[in-house]
Amino acid sequence: MAVIKDEAYGHGLIPIANYLQDKVDWFCVADVEEGVRLRQEGIETPVLVFEIPRIGKEKLYTEHHLTASISDLSVFGRLEDNTECHLHFDTGMMRLGMLPSEASKAVELMNHHNRLNYTGIYTHFANADGPSFPLVEDQISVFSEIRSQFPPHLMTHTSNSAGTLFHQGKALFDAVRTGIALYGYSPGLHEVNGLKPVLEWRSELVQVKAIKKGEAVGYGSRWKSPKNGWLGVIPVGYAEGISRTLSGKFEVEIEDRFYPQVGTISMDYITVFLGNDKLEAGMEVKIIGEGKFSAKEWAEKSGTIPYEVTTRLSQKIDRKYLL
Ligand SMILES: *Cc1c(COP(=O)(O)O)cnc(C)c1O
Repeated sequence: MAVIKDEAYGHGLIPIANYLQDKVDWFCVADVEEGVRLRQEGIETPVLVFEIPRIGKEKLYTEHHLTASISDLSVFGRLEDNTECHLHFDTGMMRLGMLPSEASKAVELMNHHNRLNYTGIYTHFANADGPSFPLVEDQISVFSEIRSQFPPHLMTHTSNSAGTLFHQGKALFDAVRTGIALYGYSPGLHEVNGLKPVLEWRSELVQVKAIKKGEAVGYGSRWKSPKNGWLGVIPVGYAEGISRTLSGKFEVEIEDRFYPQVGTISMDYITVFLGNDKLEAGMEVKIIGEGKFSAKEWAEKSGTIPYEVTTRLSQKIDRKYLL
């Protein structure tokens, strides 16, 4: 199951779905609207929607053959006849999902509402980011106890990327719901060899100007040039998804050399100090690449995770898909 929620973690819902559709058995999306968009694009792969079906939107599941998550006892009674659904239990995440204490009530409701089409059962790990994470075992044992109360034919799944990568022996069941690893990042701090970011971000220099020693750059005049040299302006800013908290903390690559971003990141622009290199407007700039300027590095520098870095990349950035 490829998790392509939230614009495929910012990479673009439809192109990523088109690329993956003959490589995976399922897609998972965050809300029903994303599922509808997949169907409108002609994608026929089964789609599991994670959200609790919202009141008034139940019809969309049957109209577009989308699989609903039953994460709350109140959902059984609301879904349209023949809705395909997966039961979702909360075994320790403490977010969505029916509680273990509600399992027998869920069995009862499932038998009562036999007008629905039950095809799966799942849970979600809260803390699986490395090989020795004891909560995973606890969650699996709670889940296994719940699982035994439901019919065997239900497809069973528990693992996100972390479960898939670090807990293979016990956590795989029938399917895995892999998100971040698909896009080339390991979840958490435990690095996994062989993952390579699929995303690269390029822009260009739109202006290069002389700067004198001591001159300040940008809002708040927070950076002053240490010497006479050249300053480059690049037309991407926090509106495109570069967190302002990264101001002065990262480098961009121009013709195989790295240059520091300097001054405060503004809405539509960043500035980079080129030192003695008088580069030309129009030259290509790599904003995000592999290794030291990957989304993972950005995340570390701005106190977040690569998930947030890529999901925040604005949809207005022009995208090219190479596969
Ligand atoms: C987002 C999500 C996933 C995928 O998580 P990754 O860490 O990106 O692999 C799997 N299952 C559920 C329920 C999710 O919300």
